[in-house]
Amino acid sequence: MNMQSKRETRDYQELDASHHIHAFLDQKALNAEGVRVIVKGKGLYLWDNDGNRYLDGMSGLWCTNLGYGREDLVAAATQQMQQLPYYNMFFHTTHPAVVELSEMLFSLLPKHYSHAIYTNSGSEANEVLIRTVRRYWQVVGQPKKRIMIGRWNGYHGSTLASAAMGGMKFMHEMGGMLPEIAHIDEPYWYAHHGNMTPDEFGRRCALQLEEKILELGAENIAGFIAEPFQGAGGMIFPPESYWPEIQRICRQYHVLLCADEVIGGFGRTGEWFAHQHFGFEPDTLSIAKGLTSGYVPMGGLVLSKTMAEALVEKGGVFAHGLTYSGHPVAAAVALANIKALRDEAIVGRVKKDIGPYLQKGLREVFTGHPLVGEIQGTGMVAALQFAENKASRQRFANESDITWRCRTYGFEEGVIIRSTAGRMIMAPALVASHGEIDELLEKTKRAVDHTARDLG
Ligand code: PLP
Repeated sequence: MNMQSKRETRDYQELDASHHIHAFLDQKALNAEGVRVIVKGKGLYLWDNDGNRYLDGMSGLWCTNLGYGREDLVAAATQQMQQLPYYNMFFHTTHPAVVELSEMLFSLLPKHYSHAIYTNSGSEANEVLIRTVRRYWQVVGQPKKRIMIGRWNGYHGSTLASAAMGGMKFMHEMGGMLPEIAHIDEPYWYAHHGNMTPDEFGRRCALQLEEKILELGAENIAGFIAEPFQGAGGMIFPPESYWPEIQRICRQYHVLLCADEVIGGFGRTGEWFAHQHFGFEPDTLSIAKGLTSGYVPMGGLVLSKTMAEALVEKGGVFAHGLTYSGHPVAAAVALANIKALRDEAIVGRVKKDIGPYLQKGLREVFTGHPLVGEIQGTGMVAALQFAENKASRQRFANESDITWRCRTYGFEEGVIIRSTAGRMIMAPALVASHGEIDELLEKTKRAVDHTARDLG
């Protein structure tokens, strides 16, 4: 039985405007416009309160990897709620759901990872990361190693420390920065390449990490955090030369390499984790989103065997704990979700079938489009870079307005795609059919065409 009563859209909008502060929006402008009320999801589709149907080209926020309406996930949550809706990890206790989730997770991960600390979200995973890597360095006798290096335009969450490690300057301006956090440039070739080839540019960006480590002193640096490909910053894929050089530098200076896999994890690129697609070996992985396909909140921090061994064998009490860490219902849903990804061979299908189908289609539709300067992506993630002058790779001065307009046309066409400054991004559910990808591309093309027409 649905516990909510059905109301008119205007009622929902007025009540929402009265009581709710939304994410990353001008609340007053949103209230004037009227928020869209989403009431149902099935497969790749969402419906609003007025019966309009949308193809969700963003898997919610990069999280509904299995799509909406999976009965197996609903059943896993229901059974766990009936059996044991809650218990904690504080009182020398555990429960089968979290034990079996860990067993499943570490059966999929490369063998040099061994332990996880569970959280409720990606932001929390990255908060926990900072304390855990600092604790690790204390335990192995290098307590001065405390500084985290992140990247400008990276995104690691909205809590104070995760936002500080991220590189969204407008977030730092609202709420403040933290000490012992530094940034280097992002490997966004299209925007910042100068006259360098992608290969030269990738290496140059990586060398900035070495310069920053030498400037601040390797003995003070705890870790380097980055998304394998930058998601919220615009689905930016680094040149191939980037990750091998970053890994070399981290190893050389004993800096922990921390991959934020919150978007890239659980099949997005056609590998279980995005670092496997790029071929590097992080020391920690921050996970969330696709861990439960977004059905219930859950995140976590995965640790290498080396780190876990030091923390377990020599660390004594680690003064850290969350009431909902390893929550049984979240763990049961995560387990059912990963089981489905594995048993239905969904990750392999992203690599061999539906991912290439999306990428090929995208290039067929948009190569040569007057507005599109570059197409990036792999598996089930993709970005269209808008350009004012494609020959000189000049971007629009008001690119945020232009991509926002394109995203609004998308809604009018019945497709949800996301705008970032200068780029349109998409990340459909991994279970999409060929027909749904065709629809995504057709509708996105119409939205981009309308935008190009407006620009004359
Ligand atoms: N890390 C990355 C790479 C993300 O994209 C996000 C959210 O989009 C986060 C961390 C934060 O996750 P959450 O919103 O679950 O706190």
